[in-house]
Amino acid sequence: MRVLQVCAEIFPLLKTGGLADVAGALPPALRSLGADVRVLLPGFDAILNGMADVATVAEFHPPLPGVQGPFRLLYAHLPACDVHAYVIDAPSLYRRAGGPYADEQQRPFSDNHIRFGLLGWVAAALTEGMDSYWRPEVVHAHDWHAGLAPAYVRAASARAGHRLAATVFTVHNLAYQGMFAGHHFGELGLPAAYYGMHGMEFHGHVNFMKAGLYFADRLTTVSPTYAQEIQGWEQGCGLHALLSSRHHDLSGILNGVDDEVWSPQRDARIAHHYSTRALVGKARCKADLLAEIGLAADATGPLFCAVSRLTEQKGLHLVLEALPGILERGGQFALLGSGDRALESAFSAAAEAHPGKVAVRLGYDEDFAHRLIAGSDVIMVPSRYEPCGLTQLYGLKYGTLPLVRKVGGLADTVQDTRLETLDTDATGFVFDHFDVGGVMYGVDRACALYRRRTDWTRVQRRAMQQPCGWDAAAAAYLDVYRRAQG
Ligand code: ADP
Repeated sequence: MRVLQVCAEIFPLLKTGGLADVAGALPPALRSLGADVRVLLPGFDAILNGMADVATVAEFHPPLPGVQGPFRLLYAHLPACDVHAYVIDAPSLYRRAGGPYADEQQRPFSDNHIRFGLLGWVAAALTEGMDSYWRPEVVHAHDWHAGLAPAYVRAASARAGHRLAATVFTVHNLAYQGMFAGHHFGELGLPAAYYGMHGMEFHGHVNFMKAGLYFADRLTTVSPTYAQEIQGWEQGCGLHALLSSRHHDLSGILNGVDDEVWSPQRDARIAHHYSTRALVGKARCKADLLAEIGLAADATGPLFCAVSRLTEQKGLHLVLEALPGILERGGQFALLGSGDRALESAFSAAAEAHPGKVAVRLGYDEDFAHRLIAGSDVIMVPSRYEPCGLTQLYGLKYGTLPLVRKVGGLADTVQDTRLETLDTDATGFVFDHFDVGGVMYGVDRACALYRRRTDWTRVQRRAMQQPCGWDAAAAAYLDVYRRAQG
């Protein structure tokens, strides 16, 4: 089966969140099940710089009003993730200072509808034969950036008089929808009928996420619980009615963790390796970490950590409120994160106020993330909502017990530690209420278990044995592709 993955980022070349991890890990996992997978990406500098064996597939002028071509479609190997990719070389659109979606001041680029409209348009052009040697049978688009791909494929199929490819759209985070003023619709070169309630219009705006949800043959999201939650008003971000009307086409497939990148037995970013049978390496990782970040080595409670974007979604303001309670119980806390300026300053102030007990590193640091997770005892993910969540999965693999809110993928992947689950399936600490009381409920139980070393180690070993690989997810996606082909 020939599958084209369409996305805006890919680990390790370009990453702003979990989407990149999925884009980097899913293609090799699908390939090992026999699928012929290629990826389509915008030609951002980070992607262009990661290409090897580059060939030009086509030079083209997209029929999008206002877009100055010609652009090139390149085909290359991306050795860093061992993926073959089509890359859209459109310097005027993609080669800019700032991030992939916004400028250096975090302002979204004003022509994002064109930049990511083009991504969808090229996906459809590939189904029409832009590369005469390879045409996808399935186009799998990820998040709003690729949301127009199913719409363009639908339009191209209508022109051809038969379906050119099946389409699948995956929601990684429904809160980011790619909304643009309605008058931009005319710049996208799509049939006028597509701009309506039954289409990609949303309260007078063009909505890329809605386009994906409306036009794709099958829909997925990244956990079974989130698949349910987004059909309801509270988490549906205004699209719950559309999602529930398509519930027969919607499935939740949990993300995996790339074992090549995250494995305590092999991780090149940590100094001491360990496994369920030999946990001494974890204790050494912790000793090194405490020394590195200036925390005391003689705390009586666990070392809690968080690795996260600092946004309202992630609930880290609750961790701030819980900090005094954590310290009172003999615990310590270390954060790696960046984002909201007020949260950044509040965490920095907490570190200054509690030397030896609280450490904060602001910024994005892949290497430190590994050392922090390997060296900590508990990883906190108290999210308001969480489509899948990856850091709790890393925590499980590294024996760093997750303390999570019972929501989305967190609810699907972490089993609470209670007396009745201690001997059977406990892997972490789960709480319900999105408030400091909820977090402290988890903290209390983490501290209590930490004092019972044998029980702690038992839960830790069980956590490390949880299946988190990509094989099950890849098999589930193949099944969705087959259903989409109908
Ligand atoms: P989201 O995609 O909503 O940000 P996920 O948990 O799905 O959340 O994925 C976040 C990914 O980004 C994880 O791989 C996590 O380790 C990584 N990450 C988040 N913040 C940082 C940071 N400051 N430094 C390094 N890695 C980070």
